[in-house]
Amino acid sequence: MNTAHLTEDQLAAALTGSQDDVLCLHLAECDLCRAEHERLAAAVAAMRATADSAARQPDWFWAGQRAQASARLQPPRRWFAVPALAACALVLLSLVLLSGGIGPQPEVTKAAVDTDDLVLRQIESSLSQSAPQALAPAALLSEDFARAAEQSKPSSKEKGNVL
Ligand SMILES: [Zn+2]
Repeated sequence: MNTAHLTEDQLAAALTGSQDDVLCLHLAECDLCRAEHERLAAAVAAMRATADSAARQPDWFWAGQRAQASARLQPPRRWFAVPALAACALVLLSLVLLSGGIGPQPEVTKAAVDTDDLVLRQIESSLSQSAPQALAPAALLSEDFARAAEQSKPSSKEKGNVL
């Protein structure tokens, strides 16, 4: 006889009905391994009996179990969800409309600022002139006429000399 006792795997194989000659011979000759095998077999049988008695239930019990499982799988109906969502959407829409809409606000660029500054300077310079810019040639002519008239008049010295 082999002096090494059966391992847990060999005992489990014997429990599942293995017909290995080495296992069968050892179990027949070794009291210790045979006792362990019988203890494990009794535990498995007790577990099987408990599972069988727990599974032995009337049909109404299983119908109730099916109904409870189905109820857990289906989401509950929320009759109040649609009006609440509509109210939330209305509030969001009004907030968006009151705040001026969605989207980026127009960005003021440096070029726009420069253009505005240029226009303001032009307005300021045209206001500081005595005549509008469109009448500038006429103003120049008028100045020329006035200068020519001034020069054609005899000066007071010349008047004295002449007289
Ligand atoms: Zn043994």
